Amino acid sequence: MAEYQAPLRDIRFLLNEVFDAPALWASLPKVAENVDPETADAILEEAGKIAGGVLAPLNREADEQGSKWDNGEVTAPDGFKEAYQTIVEGGWNGLGGNPEFGGMGMPKTLVAQFEEMMQGANMAFGLAPMLTAGACLALDAHGSQELKEKYLPNMYSGVWSGAMDLTEPHAGTDLGIIRTKAEPNDDGSFNVTGTKIFITWGEHDMAENIIHLVLAKLPDAPKGPKGISLFLVPKFLVNEDGSLGERNSFSCGSIEKKMGIKGSATCVMNFDGAKGWLVGEENKGLAAMFTMMNYERLGVGIQGIGAAEASLQNAREYALDRIQSRAPTGAQQPEKAADPIIVHPDVRRMLLTMKGYVEGGRAFSTYVAQWLDISKYADDDERRKHAEGMVALLTPVAKAFLTDRGLEACILGQQVFGGHGFVREWGQEQLVRDCRITQIYEGTNGIQALDLMGRKVVGSQGKLYELFAQDVANFLEENADNEHLHPFLEPLAAAVERLDDVTEHVLGQAGNSPDAVGAASVDYLDLFGLTALGYMWARIVKAAAPQAAGDTSGFYSGKVKTARFYFDRLLPKTVSLAEGIRSGSDAMMALTAEEF
Ligand SMILES: Cc1cc2nc3c(=O)[nH]c(=O)nc-3n(C[C@H](O)[C@H](O)[C@H](O)COP(=O)(O)OP(=O)(O)OC[C@H]3O[C@@H](n4cnc5c(N)ncnc54)[C@H](O)[C@@H]3O)c2cc1C
Repeated sequence: MAEYQAPLRDIRFLLNEVFDAPALWASLPKVAENVDPETADAILEEAGKIAGGVLAPLNREADEQGSKWDNGEVTAPDGFKEAYQTIVEGGWNGLGGNPEFGGMGMPKTLVAQFEEMMQGANMAFGLAPMLTAGACLALDAHGSQELKEKYLPNMYSGVWSGAMDLTEPHAGTDLGIIRTKAEPNDDGSFNVTGTKIFITWGEHDMAENIIHLVLAKLPDAPKGPKGISLFLVPKFLVNEDGSLGERNSFSCGSIEKKMGIKGSATCVMNFDGAKGWLVGEENKGLAAMFTMMNYERLGVGIQGIGAAEASLQNAREYALDRIQSRAPTGAQQPEKAADPIIVHPDVRRMLLTMKGYVEGGRAFSTYVAQWLDISKYADDDERRKHAEGMVALLTPVAKAFLTDRGLEACILGQQVFGGHGFVREWGQEQLVRDCRITQIYEGTNGIQALDLMGRKVVGSQGKLYELFAQDVANFLEENADNEHLHPFLEPLAAAVERLDDVTEHVLGQAGNSPDAVGAASVDYLDLFGLTALGYMWARIVKAAAPQAAGDTSGFYSGKVKTARFYFDRLLPKTVSLAEGIRSGSDAMMALTAEEF
C-alpha cells in the first residue's frame, strides 16, 4: 500500500498558478490581516506533515478496531486521542475561525486544502475537527455574544469538540417532523428532551467537553420546518468562571456498526431534560443550520476528493509495479516475464478517469472556496452578493458531484488492483467503504440535486445559473486568442451551450409538470458538474501549458495531457445526460406502485 502523501505540489499549483489566491486574499482586507503567501505556504507544509505523518498511519488500524461503546462511554481507536492532541496544539480546529474568539481567520481557499489532506489521510478522524468547525461557524454566525465568549475559544482551540444533532429515527431528510422538544426555564435556559440518531462523534474520549448543537421544537412552535429552533447543549455544564461543572442530563445510548468510517463513533444520543441555550432566534433554527451547511457541504465534497486522491496514489504505484500480460504494441520490458499493467489502455482509462476527477475536482472545490471567501469577507456589497449567488448555486454541485465522482474514482482505484483490491491488504476496499457515506450524509445527493434544480435554478428563474454561465463566457472571451487553449475552447463552449439548453428546457417544463424537476435533477447536477470540471480543466491548461515544454518533471505536461483525456472521454458524457433529461418524467412516473 502506498503511503499517503499530501498532494502539496498540486495544491500550490492551484492556489498560486491557477487561481492566484494571494491576489484574492490581498483584495479582502479582513483576510489580508491574517494571511500572506509565506504564512499560507507554511500552513500547507505543516498540514501535509500532520496528514501524512500523524493521521494516515492510524487509518487502517482504526478501521479494524472501530470506536468502542461501554455503558455510555465511547473510546476512540488507539492513537486518536494523541492525534487529536496534535490538532489541539496546532489550533487546527480554529484555522478558519473568527479571530475575535481565538480563531485564526484563515480563508476557506486555504482551509479547504487542509481539510482535503486530513480527510484523505483519515476520514474517520477528520470528521471530528470538521464537525467542530461547523458547529463553531453556526455559533459564530447566530449565537449571542455571551454564548460565543463562553464556548468559541475552547472549541476553536479544540479542547472542546462539537457535534451537530439533527437526525431522529423517523426524521432525516424531512427535519420538519422532528419530535425533540425544548421547554423554557425561568433562567433563560431550556430543557431539551428527545432522541437523536447517527450523531458523528456525539460522544468520545478525545476532548474535555462536547458541545452539541441540537435541533428541537418549542412547545408552541408552528408545524414543519418553520417551527424548528437550534440549541447549544454541552456535555458538561460550564460554570461562570469557565470551569467545567456537572454532567448534563443526556447520554450516548449506543453506537452504530457500519460499512465504513468505522473509526468514528456514530452515536444515538438520548436527551432527558438536558440543559440547553437558544442559538439565534426562536423557530429559525433551520436557517441557522443552513448558514454553516454551505461550508460543511463543500467539506463533504472535499472528503470525496480526499478519499479518491488516496486511492489514486495507491493505484498509480500498483499499476507501475504489477506485471501482467504484454502491451498490445509489443513487450515494453522484455527482460521481465510481463509488462507493468500501466501499459494497458484500460488501466490507463481507469487512472486517467481518476486523475481527471480528482485534480479537476480539487480545482472545483478551490473555485467554490474562493466564492465562499468573497461572500464572507468582501467589503463591496455588489461583489459579496454576486459571490453569495455563486455559493448558493455551486454548493450542491460540490457536495454531490465531488462525492459521486469521488466514489467512482475509489472504485476504479480498487479495480486497478484486480482481486487484490477486494481484499483488506492494500487498503483500496476501505477507501470505497469510507467514501460511500459522503453521498448520503449532510443531505443525500438526491436532495442536493433537488436543491440545485428546484430551489436554485428554477427558484431563481435561471438567474443564479446565469452567474455561472457568465463566468465561463468571460473566460472563453478573454482567452479566445490563447493558442494553448485552442483545442479546449470550442468543446467547452459547446458543453456550456448544452447546459444552457437543458436549463431552458427544464425551466420551461417546471411550470407544466410537478414531477419535471425531480425527474431531471440528478442527471442535471451531473451534467452541471461535468461541465464545471471542463471549465476547471481549461483553467488548469491555461496555467500549465506555457510551462509544459521545458518541464522535465512531467507535472505540467501531465496536466495538459490529462485535460485532453477529460475533454475527449469524460466531458462527452454530457451529451447522453442531456438527451435523457429531455425525455422528461413520463417513463419515470408511468409504473404503478404494484408494477415495481
Ligand atoms: C455515518 C453517518 C453519520 C451521520 N452523521 C450525522 C450527524 O453528525 N448529525 C446528524 O444530524 N445526522 C447525521 N447523519 C444522518 C444523515 O445526515 C441522514 O442519514 C441523511 O440526511 C438521510 O436521512 P435518512 O437516513 O433519514 O434518509 P431518508 O430521509 O429516509 O431518505 C431515504 C431516501 O429517500 C430519499 N428522499 C427523501 N425525501 C425525498 C424527497 N423529498 N425527494 C426525493 N427523494 C427523497 C433520500 O434521498 C434517500 O435516498 C449521519 C448518518 C450516517 C449514516
